[in-house]
Amino acid sequence: METVALIVAAGRGARAAAAGLGPKQYVALKGVPVLALTVAALGRHPRIGSVLVAIHPEDAGAYGDVAAALEETVRCKLLPPVAGGATRQASVLAGLEALRDAGACYVLIHDAARPLVASRDIDALLDALAETPGALLAVPVSDTLKCANSEETGVAGTVPRDGLWQALTPQGFAFDAILGAHRAAAASGRDDFTDDASVAEAAGIQVRLVRGQRDNIKITAAEDFDLAERLMGDGLPDVRTGNGFDVHRFAEGDRVWLCGLEIPHTQRLEGHSDADVGLHALTDAILGALGSGDIGQHFPPSDPKWKGAASDQFLAHAAGLVGARGGRLTHVDVTLICEMPKVGPHREAMRARVAEILGIDMDRVSVKATTSERLGFTGRGEGIAAMATATVVMPPA
Ligand code: MG
Repeated sequence: METVALIVAAGRGARAAAAGLGPKQYVALKGVPVLALTVAALGRHPRIGSVLVAIHPEDAGAYGDVAAALEETVRCKLLPPVAGGATRQASVLAGLEALRDAGACYVLIHDAARPLVASRDIDALLDALAETPGALLAVPVSDTLKCANSEETGVAGTVPRDGLWQALTPQGFAFDAILGAHRAAAASGRDDFTDDASVAEAAGIQVRLVRGQRDNIKITAAEDFDLAERLMGDGLPDVRTGNGFDVHRFAEGDRVWLCGLEIPHTQRLEGHSDADVGLHALTDAILGALGSGDIGQHFPPSDPKWKGAASDQFLAHAAGLVGARGGRLTHVDVTLICEMPKVGPHREAMRARVAEILGIDMDRVSVKATTSERLGFTGRGEGIAAMATATVVMPPA
């Protein structure tokens, strides 16, 4: 049931180009190329499995730069780009033909120049597609419409706006249906369809209107860049930080679990689970960043199910909650406080293990250790304390 996004980025953007901006999809908004924002908006959506971009052959270099700078989770969904055609309609058909053996069930066709499409609009469109072979995002026309005279200087009349909607993208379709419709349109010699819903309508495919956001503007003229930047708000990502702290006491034994590693020692740590104090502090830090309670609520010590449990599952659960809310865990930092065992020899292996459990790169994981100068309970060797910080970037509201 894979859904593919097809982004049409082959246009020359005559109006923006006339203003000396070059192809508008490669112009930066707050420092990021429009196309990169658009690809990320679709590629980050969990219900979109892959993304294909139709580009102008002259833009291969610029496109390569955009693709290389994308975050890994989006880049890995990108298919090799396809060369677009002379018209938007031809570019879409080239993209659909490139996808014909990809096994896509649905395709969302989207303008490269609409970087501000909201995740919830994509959800609404996909929900509609479960019930109809075609659907598009659209907004009801709210302004009164005037028809200009032939000199475009005066009003020739007023157009009733009742029942009029402004078509946006993405427009979503059952893949086989829209491929057939586009082939039929091309075979009929027509090349003037300005969106894919009209291609579908011409083929007799039922197309449903799904109300979208007005913010989903199409960047066409130079002034649209300013508007888009204003709509992007302050540009600050929704970054959240959580901290965690944990202590476990030593007991008779011959090994401890620390940051997911089993380390030989002259004692063990006492606890209901494996007593991995580092992973417990880190689990709490992630839960803290989400405002989702603490480890004891998610894994009650009173529940015999967690007796002797490996703490990596607690941490993986917390990381899964981040992903389920559309967030990204971007950094974690753990400090172990003890006199013994020595952490230094295990530090890199701990970072690697934590990165593996969290599914993030090792350069986003820090593990540090300190003694407490022989002061307090850690200084007296009665137990180990750990503190941790987690940083999560949530999707824009
Ligand atoms: Mg604990």
